[in-house]
Amino acid sequence: MLIVKKFGGTSVANKERIFYVASRCVEEYLKGNDVIVVVSAMGKYTDELVSLAQDINEKPPKREMDMLFTIGEQMSAALMAMALNKLNVPAVSLNAFQIAMHTTSAHGSARLKRIDTERIRRELENRKIVVVTGFQGVNKYDDYTTLGRGGSDTTAVALAAALHADACEIYTDVDGIYTADPRKVPSARKLKEITYDEMLDLATLGAGVLHNRSVEMAKKYGVPLVVRSSMNNSEGTVVKEEVSVERMLISGVALDTDSVRIAVIGLKDVPGMAFKLFDLLAKKNINVDVILQSIGRHGTKDISFTVNGTDFDDAVSVLEAGKARLGYEELRAEKNIAKLSIVGAGMMSNPGVAARMFECLYNSGININMISTSEIRVTVLINEKDGVRAMNAVHDAFDLGD
Ligand code: ASP
Ligand code: MG
Repeated sequence: MLIVKKFGGTSVANKERIFYVASRCVEEYLKGNDVIVVVSAMGKYTDELVSLAQDINEKPPKREMDMLFTIGEQMSAALMAMALNKLNVPAVSLNAFQIAMHTTSAHGSARLKRIDTERIRRELENRKIVVVTGFQGVNKYDDYTTLGRGGSDTTAVALAAALHADACEIYTDVDGIYTADPRKVPSARKLKEITYDEMLDLATLGAGVLHNRSVEMAKKYGVPLVVRSSMNNSEGTVVKEEVSVERMLISGVALDTDSVRIAVIGLKDVPGMAFKLFDLLAKKNINVDVILQSIGRHGTKDISFTVNGTDFDDAVSVLEAGKARLGYEELRAEKNIAKLSIVGAGMMSNPGVAARMFECLYNSGININMISTSEIRVTVLINEKDGVRAMNAVHDAFDLGD
């Protein structure tokens, strides 16, 4: 069997954790399996690198940020390989350059295009455990790129897909996927299984356990994922195409407090405005979520939308630069918002799910600013201060708890 195991920052945060993780990899190896280990930077090291950079330059060039970021994963990969060697198992660490993990050029949000597997295969044939730096890639200019925060999950899934691995295990500091973040919703329950589609929505909407691209890729290539704890041996959650256990109406509730709402006020009420506006943002690689357009009045209309907080400055500057072209009156920003979502494949065949969520929020006296829905999710925009309370109320309303 070929097994890809990915360990997040907490799982490799110090010497003890590194040796614990290494010994679990050794167990797998001694059963005769081929083992690839993907690691994140130790603990909160990536955040520390961000602070270091900010201290020098509040708007560091994205290329240089990527140069800086790559050292975090390189450090943990080398240390992990040393730990494995210390446990008498041959191991080698490889970075994105040595493997050749080809990505698009967008610094800070690159997408994996192709992975050369030759070097890895050769090392595995020599019965080495291969330790790979997560999160990083190389673009066509031979510059380092990164896949976006939390991107090591995607590195692991991409390797599993490219090498046709038998299993891809994502080890983290929680022991699986929960119906809601247990730190915010104490009654949250661990799921045995969840579909790719549901997981993709939850990951995108703030569940934080898996990088959303990793789920997208797992679905595309049919890589069965297991999310489990690196602290204990409990079973974890399987992410796959179809779940076999009886499907619940809702699988999870997610809260995202990183979004910012931007309102573009007083746009001309003529065809093509939405296109021009969102095209400007798309060209800057800025992802837009919940969109609302007002009904036209006196020949003008407003368009509001949310973007991730990290894209806020970029979004405002491209809209300001495009003011003449768009011809709006003013921009307004609202940072104290939260996006609350319920996700569940069971919604497709059960009407009334959205109404039940709205009723619950009404009973809790929580005002809804914007709504967006898909086949398997309902998202509302609310005040940030109501976020956790709303999340608990909705979790209860759908009987998700223990
Ligand atoms: N170290 C990177 C981050 O903190 C990548 C990862 O952990 O997946 O975002
Ligand atoms: Mg992560």
